[in-house]
Amino acid sequence: MAPSGSRSIKRSCQTVLYWIPVIFITLIVAWSYYAYVVQLCIGKDNSTVVVYLLAYHVVFILFTWTYWQTIFTKPMNPLKEFHLSYSDKELLEREDRGESQQEILRRIAKDLPIYTRTMSGAIRFCDRCQLVKPDRCHHCSVCDKYDSAHGPMVNNCVGFSNYKFFMLFLAYSLLYCIFITATDLQYFIKFWTNGLPDTQAKFHIMFLFFAASMFSVSLASLFVYHCWLVCKNRSTLEAVRAPAFRHGADKNGFSLGLSKNFRQVFGDEMRYWPFPVYSRYILIPLFYQISSGLYFGADSDREEGRRKNLNSVVNYGGNEGTMFLSVRGG
Ligand SMILES: [Zn+2]
Ligand SMILES: [Zn+2]
Repeated sequence: MAPSGSRSIKRSCQTVLYWIPVIFITLIVAWSYYAYVVQLCIGKDNSTVVVYLLAYHVVFILFTWTYWQTIFTKPMNPLKEFHLSYSDKELLEREDRGESQQEILRRIAKDLPIYTRTMSGAIRFCDRCQLVKPDRCHHCSVCDKYDSAHGPMVNNCVGFSNYKFFMLFLAYSLLYCIFITATDLQYFIKFWTNGLPDTQAKFHIMFLFFAASMFSVSLASLFVYHCWLVCKNRSTLEAVRAPAFRHGADKNGFSLGLSKNFRQVFGDEMRYWPFPVYSRYILIPLFYQISSGLYFGADSDREEGRRKNLNSVVNYGGNEGTMFLSVRGG
């Protein structure tokens, strides 16, 4: 009993530890709200402040909404087609040579829309989950789920299910910080020229300016980097190491051109681009969903579309996938 008890304590400690960055950010945001609304705006008798407050709340709502969605949108699970059947598991366990195991995995992967390989050219397989890894997916040891990469700032895997939300979170948090910096600047200058009344508000105003401007710089660099990744259709892991295909490593293996790369993340419907909601995915995103082997949930239309697409991919021997994903060679 003792080892399992200590394991669960360790796990609880880890859970608390992983939430620390989120709690830290939430506390800073709560304080920034108090400092801006209560200390800086309320009580000032001019119409500009009303405009500031209105604009502030619009940005604040979008920022907290996207943050919430990024944190609490669950990573997706690979389709059951990627899991080994009971008989295949047994077969794999009986073989102790790597090459014979690869032979079995190649047979299983033959009917799956999979284009990537390990660096040595082998089928990507997860021992822990006993499944053939879908393209671009990785097992996250923190969440014990599949997605692109774990984001400590949001304590969640950031990948296909929430990458749009994460991008919007970066954009709105940057906008939030820039807005505060810009509107607080005049009061910040007054602080140094002794133009502010001698109350505790002046210290909130000063620290608010420092915090917002510093976060603006770090968020801007992160946002620009992720915009570049979206344009190139690369995950953070793929940016570090080019994904390997049957024909070898290719850093642009998933790129479809700027417009399609963008739509893969943000969807096809422009009116939904600014909001952290799923927009209706047509052709490419749907195909991407299939190719990634990601399960979209209980939506029956999507489920139907997914099945049709999976069948067509299998029927055409992967040609459609080759075309849409621009996976060359193989
Ligand atoms: Zn796994
Ligand atoms: Zn994770």
